[in-house]
Amino acid sequence: MRTKERRQKLLAQLESKGVDALLVATPENRRYLSGFSGSAGYLLLGPQHNQIVADGRYWAQCAEQCADLDLVKFRQEDFKSLIDCAAAQISGDSGILGVEGRNMVVADFQALQRALPEGWSVQSVESCVEDIRQLKDQEELELMRRAAQIGDQAFRKALECLKEGIRERDFCLELEYQMQKLGARKPAFDSIVASGPNGAFPHAGVTDRVIQKHELITVDFGAYRDGYNSDITRTIWVGQLNERNRFIYESVRQAQQRAVDAVKPGKTCKEIDAVARQSLLDAGLGEYFTHGLGHGIGLAVHELPGVRSTSDVVLEPGMVITIEPGVYIPGETGCRVEDSVLVTADGCEKLTRSAYQEVGQSHPLETVGA
Ligand code: ZN
Ligand code: ZN
Repeated sequence: MRTKERRQKLLAQLESKGVDALLVATPENRRYLSGFSGSAGYLLLGPQHNQIVADGRYWAQCAEQCADLDLVKFRQEDFKSLIDCAAAQISGDSGILGVEGRNMVVADFQALQRALPEGWSVQSVESCVEDIRQLKDQEELELMRRAAQIGDQAFRKALECLKEGIRERDFCLELEYQMQKLGARKPAFDSIVASGPNGAFPHAGVTDRVIQKHELITVDFGAYRDGYNSDITRTIWVGQLNERNRFIYESVRQAQQRAVDAVKPGKTCKEIDAVARQSLLDAGLGEYFTHGLGHGIGLAVHELPGVRSTSDVVLEPGMVITIEPGVYIPGETGCRVEDSVLVTADGCEKLTRSAYQEVGQSHPLETVGA
């Protein structure tokens, strides 16, 4: 496991932020730093701290997944709550305890303040672990490739049942069933199958609407496995597109491809966003691209860096981001194309590899020119 290396990086971060220890409760951060995949527990990390605090459901799991941390066994007869138990592990006369301010609830913050030894204070630190998580190590990339591959294979399989007259819901079920059959623990997020006018909602869900011929269908989905997520969108159709839909689709495809081609180390996230945005502006569709271009992905579906017009983050090899321009025309239709890409030394590599339907194909699985 690379968890030890990750904790080393964390120590450097803590020092630079002037914090003596960090209390980690965010599930993704906890898993990243310890390997522990349970749903509850605290890590207490710092130069003088190397503990995991967990209740009886997880003692055996901790011993297996993070034997290099000191396991503190929380028992209800000893402490009111898990956080009181964590606070009691603080050693040293005085210091500053960092907490994940973005994710901590007020009640826990107050409990912690009450329980901390005198001389210690609490300070919110932002994106301390999330910053480190931006650069994926080899172990993570292997897991992310696997999650992406499951999504691709499941999509290919689900397309076999795509036809005129199928409900959005049934196609979605088939896709999620195939992902889980291929090894996903669950979908990475609520899948989107948005046909015709439903596509105009960027975060449409799934309805009972019956899929018609000749309309655009946005399918946004991903697989969750071993803690990691994949995220991909394909816009597909059955039959032939009219000129308008064809133009929309080709414009989005082109914007997406241009942005993917622009990804390389040294570029800022906002520069990549601008490439796709300009492409859609030139096509006269700029006003319908109403969200950021993409996001980092890994243990969380949405993580750092945000790929949007306000982000000065400079791309580095090892970052994994999505590139997902879309066009949403209220009452009419919508279209999005998304891939997850790994920033490499000289460009990027697509982790998601499903085929794009080509204009002229009357079904995504149709062999062109056969
Ligand atoms: Zn997506
Ligand atoms: Zn996405």
